[in-house]
Amino acid sequence: MSFASSRIAWVKPSASAWVSQAAKEAKARGEDVIDLGLGEPDFDTPNHIKEAAHQAALRGETKYPPTSCTLEMRQAVLDKLKRENNLDYALDEVIVSNGAKQVLFNALMATLEPGDEVLLCAPYFGQYKDIVLILGGVPVLLEYPAGAGFRLKPEQLSEAITPKTRWLLLNQPSNTSGTVYSDAEIVSLGAVLADHQRVLVLSDEIYEHILFDGRIFRSFAALCPHLKDRTLTVNGVSKSYAMTGWRIGYGAGPIGLIAAMTKVQSQVSSGACSIAQAAAAAALNGPQNDVRRFRAAFERLRDLVVARIEDIPGLTLDPPGGAFYGLIGCEALIGTTTHDGATVASDADVTTYRLKAAGVAAAPGSAYNLSPFFRISTAASEEELIKALDGIAKAVADLK
Ligand code: PLP
Repeated sequence: MSFASSRIAWVKPSASAWVSQAAKEAKARGEDVIDLGLGEPDFDTPNHIKEAAHQAALRGETKYPPTSCTLEMRQAVLDKLKRENNLDYALDEVIVSNGAKQVLFNALMATLEPGDEVLLCAPYFGQYKDIVLILGGVPVLLEYPAGAGFRLKPEQLSEAITPKTRWLLLNQPSNTSGTVYSDAEIVSLGAVLADHQRVLVLSDEIYEHILFDGRIFRSFAALCPHLKDRTLTVNGVSKSYAMTGWRIGYGAGPIGLIAAMTKVQSQVSSGACSIAQAAAAAALNGPQNDVRRFRAAFERLRDLVVARIEDIPGLTLDPPGGAFYGLIGCEALIGTTTHDGATVASDADVTTYRLKAAGVAAAPGSAYNLSPFFRISTAASEEELIKALDGIAKAVADLK
């Protein structure tokens, strides 16, 4: 008997979860596997943040929190957005949820009519498309011609907009390609949207602090103030503060949108965990030296991966400008043969072969609507990354 409704039956686990599951199964069989599938910092949450959670629990902050967010976290988010992003929001223009993922879900649930189109920039964070489909929307995938550096161009955006377009989902630094747009590029995308009053912008800024080569991050709404009243700025503490398990993300946007999202949240989960909110407020309000330490470490790992991939014939990598992923091109491997005679016909085959031959788990580009590539998370220890890249080099060299 199937328990899944037709709305949900076709939904596959996310690519990174699928790859991690395959890695766990291989480990359970006693194989030596390095999991570069999940986008999760290898650091522990800083102690002052854990201590804030401890103190909140001891103070008795153990009751249902307000649906949208605690007062302390609301203020912390407002202060952060002002201080770091030069964005002014009012008290009722903020929502805190169980991760940025729930902020996204709330926003789309609150706004999509059946058949509404959502523009996604491939390669994109895997969940975007599935969330849109679950909610009865139509994902419209904007793909980039080879060599365009994984960047949406204004002409392409303009052509894609129809009377049904409801959202543009923009994520930078990008999971999966590490693309970071210049300020001028963002401004030119914003100019296209100026005349399309029905289109909302979701600016997913969760990797804002993981930025390389001296780049400075600027929020979409700050660069395009004329669109602030239809932009939802999405962020969270998972990546910047090594807090993936605390499940706190936040959104800031126009009051009507936040009110509708709060309505959704009230029916689904109520307010996010009060203790995790206290920890997240301490993260935003407290010393930021750990954020800087993490960023520097991620940049060193990025350099290591770029240098090593350059030395592997058959693989390519555009140096990521931010985030902690490497989107590795593997076109030259398509059509080769493995030592047991199987033909490598797609990046999914590369994924299966690499896991078997090198013990390295990582998602195929097809999961992000871009082939032939595979995505490794560089948020691992240096030792693991070196071992994984050595394994990949040998597995690639063994293909005929
Ligand atoms: N947005 C992007 C682009 C992500 O890569 C992720 C997590 O991988 C999320 C949102 C969700 O983050 P959170 O842990 O806050 O739910």
